[in-house]
Amino acid sequence: MMRDYRCWAEIDLDAIRENLAWLRDRMGAERKLMTVVKADAYGHGLRQIAAHLMQNGTDVFGVANLEEALTIHRIGPGWPVLMLGACLPGEMDEAVREEVMLTISNGEEAERLSRVAAKQGKSAIVHLKVDTGMGRLGVASGEAVDLARRLPSMPGIRLEGLMTHFAAAEEDAAFTDWQRNLFERVVKDLRDQGLRPPLVHAFNSAAILHEEDEGFYYNMVRPGLLVYGIWPKGARSIGTDLAVRLKQVLTWKCRVGLVKEVTKGVPLSYGGSFVTPRPMRIATLTVGYGDGYLRAAGNRAKILVGGVECPVVGRVTMDQTLVDIGTAGEVKAGDEAVLIGRQGRAAITANRLAEWCNTIPWEIVTNISYRVPRVYRGGKAA
Ligand SMILES: *Cc1c(COP(=O)(O)O)cnc(C)c1O
Repeated sequence: MMRDYRCWAEIDLDAIRENLAWLRDRMGAERKLMTVVKADAYGHGLRQIAAHLMQNGTDVFGVANLEEALTIHRIGPGWPVLMLGACLPGEMDEAVREEVMLTISNGEEAERLSRVAAKQGKSAIVHLKVDTGMGRLGVASGEAVDLARRLPSMPGIRLEGLMTHFAAAEEDAAFTDWQRNLFERVVKDLRDQGLRPPLVHAFNSAAILHEEDEGFYYNMVRPGLLVYGIWPKGARSIGTDLAVRLKQVLTWKCRVGLVKEVTKGVPLSYGGSFVTPRPMRIATLTVGYGDGYLRAAGNRAKILVGGVECPVVGRVTMDQTLVDIGTAGEVKAGDEAVLIGRQGRAAITANRLAEWCNTIPWEIVTNISYRVPRVYRGGKAA
């Protein structure tokens, strides 16, 4: 017998395909598309999402670490994968053998890789990262040209890409402009020296939404969030048609475990941070921070029950969360509740939940825990 899920995520694979088509349309057919699938494809499930993206027109995958890269190679041997995090010395041998593309930030990394590659009689395929203001990985922009010129002389190093990363593309147009100028100067200086790495890339989701992409400087983009139909919200405004055109891929649900009437003056949940101001109808839901529903949602977020937004009351606990269902009509044990997604005419986006929790949508989706089964829908027409 099929048992009810208590807390689960429905992943709409058709929505991913539509988002990919929208990205293609926006970026132009000649530009390559790297879909970023780190952190279990932003919580959507790496294996299923990667397989689906392979069938629907991604060119390259972006991942955080070697394990994620190898997972992709097991599904699609030979697919281009770029590891966006630094490659640890202890990972280099395997990374080179498995032909995972690597991000490098300095000469030391390049030399170490060169030795590993030479020993194997193989090439290490590298993307040189330029730090234009993110301050995380990458060579300082003033030193990038020198390093790029040294690479061809290192045995076994193949320079496949040149990249940078924006620190505030959704927030700050002037700073993004500053980063672009630094990067575009590096690209130009390299060209003047006859160096043309095949892939030049910088645009994350926010840059895709806010920046003009002149083909001369960039020929690949690296969206993560947009692939999943979530937009990076910041101080820079976004055209209103976006919300309509992007399809949110993930719907996160749980169930009503118990319905009860509570009298006035009753403290609810740990610490009694909520005390009923009047007699109330309360539902106890089968979700908690053990499922990745952030504790910060306590007394702040809303959850859809009976097609209406019901306020979370009291603290979120490990496995259960309470909501005020006073306006929700008839509610009974076993009913579905929606944490992210639509129910009837009501909807809660990952962005909205993030705001309630004082965080960002990336953290909301990557935090959904292993306890939450991902259930896949659509995708057959690939
Ligand atoms: C995560 C990441 C991306 C994708 O970022 P989004 O904001 O989700 O589009 C692109 N590039 C690098 C280097 C990243 O680490």
